[in-house]
Amino acid sequence: MQGASVSHAGAALTDAVVGLVVAAGRGERLGGDLPKALRSFGGRPMLAWAVDALKPVCGRVVVVGPPTRLAEVAAVVPDVIVVPGGATRGASVRCGLAALDPLPRYVLVHDAARPMAPTSLAERVLAALIDGARAVVPVLPLADTVKQVDSDGLVVSTPDRTSLRIVQTPQGFCAALLVAAHRDEVEATDDAALVEALGAPVHTVPGDPRAAKVTTPADLVLLELGRR
Ligand code: C5P
Repeated sequence: MQGASVSHAGAALTDAVVGLVVAAGRGERLGGDLPKALRSFGGRPMLAWAVDALKPVCGRVVVVGPPTRLAEVAAVVPDVIVVPGGATRGASVRCGLAALDPLPRYVLVHDAARPMAPTSLAERVLAALIDGARAVVPVLPLADTVKQVDSDGLVVSTPDRTSLRIVQTPQGFCAALLVAAHRDEVEATDDAALVEALGAPVHTVPGDPRAAKVTTPADLVLLELGRR
């Protein structure tokens, strides 16, 4: 979807947009003592980068943090609303949505674990919303062939790669649609899947390789190298 430019969005537009950064995961695959969002990346906690990327296009930013580390989260991002998260990513999104009063027009849901996602990516997602989409995800084509396998590890099928995409955040939604999508508290690995389950169209915009998610220690090293 081609979007209107939001680079020079006025206050009236940004007031209609809330950035919801989910940062309550423990980051078990990354290891270490700190929750992933508080792990250092490029000299500051990962979360700080994610919030900074959204701020230029959002009137408000809400951060959903680990319930036992809220003071540390608030110290990292002192000028945003911080609320405690839940046991799953979806539950954490719902904790953030519950804190949105009044409900804004648009919500950009972003993973704190994507510290290098640029503001231009959030602008692209928001532009598609302004153009009329009610749900928008940034996507990248797949470089590798993908196999579906069974529980024994045997290949079941080889999906056509040309129709597959890697999905990133921030994902953008009309706020009322996102609230409706989360109403049944069904678990999914991203918010767009819940909107799809409602039968609503989910639009795509080009993603950005810099918006890669940090999951393992190797991801952190590679993304750090990419910054230089
Ligand atoms: O675990 P994963 O890397 O998929 O998490 C993606 C994002 O969701 C991370 O920013 C993480 O902090 C957040 N999350 C959360 N609450 C959870 C689990 C994950 O906010 N219970």
